[in-house]
Amino acid sequence: MDLEPMGFEKRSSRERFPTDLLARLRDARRVVVLTGAGISAESGIPTFRDALTGLWAQYRAEDLATPEAFERNPALVWSWYRMRRELVVRAEPNPGHRAIARLESRLTRFTLITQNVDGLHRRAGSTDPVELHGSLLRARCSREGTVVDSWEEPKTGPPRCARCQAYLRPDVVWFGETLPEHALRRAREASAACDVFLSVGTSNLVEPAASLPWLAASAGAVVAVVNPSVEGQRSGTRVHHLLGRAGELLPALLAAGWPEEPNSPT
Ligand SMILES: [Zn+2]
Repeated sequence: MDLEPMGFEKRSSRERFPTDLLARLRDARRVVVLTGAGISAESGIPTFRDALTGLWAQYRAEDLATPEAFERNPALVWSWYRMRRELVVRAEPNPGHRAIARLESRLTRFTLITQNVDGLHRRAGSTDPVELHGSLLRARCSREGTVVDSWEEPKTGPPRCARCQAYLRPDVVWFGETLPEHALRRAREASAACDVFLSVGTSNLVEPAASLPWLAASAGAVVAVVNPSVEGQRSGTRVHHLLGRAGELLPALLAAGWPEEPNSPT
């Protein structure tokens, strides 16, 4: 008995990928990859809410990830982000991250859009990801917005801006804040102009990232969704659902798309 939902294909990494996806991938003038929390989870990085454990279990997102929370208690908010930064620094990019970096190196026009803030794509070799939600590894002046990627960590509380002495805050998008305009514009432009759009490890429920695959599909791109579950995913004639982990499916997709290229072991 087939337990898969109608319209979705279950494929293991050993089975063939849809031929039109492989053909379009090889001949693509432009490929866009969108990633979400699922690919980070494969590196052991908890989601924002899953990180609210132990000492942090008593807090709500509103206590830790809003501009008001930072104004009220900058030391608390900073220590939450310091803890999460330490988690991601200890984590390692996984084969999914590395496959995306290899894909970039094989294509002339490639855009990686990520909702993740852990910096693992850059560590895997991706050169210029569009970070829709910012990065845990950067801070910015809470007054002037100047972005820094290194700072002296004080014993307590957030560090201060070297120019104006205001507090530095994490360079991430907090609840109630809008996404960085430049990043969102790059993401929309690339999605509307690509031939192949891969959505990886995201349930595609959170706007505005949720609309990017459909922006691509409506402009004629082939869309493939790589995710262990189809929950929340919209189906469509041009959308391939590849059920599984990014770390297994993406290296296999590259090997299938470029069989003549050496595929470094993952
Ligand atoms: Zn400043």
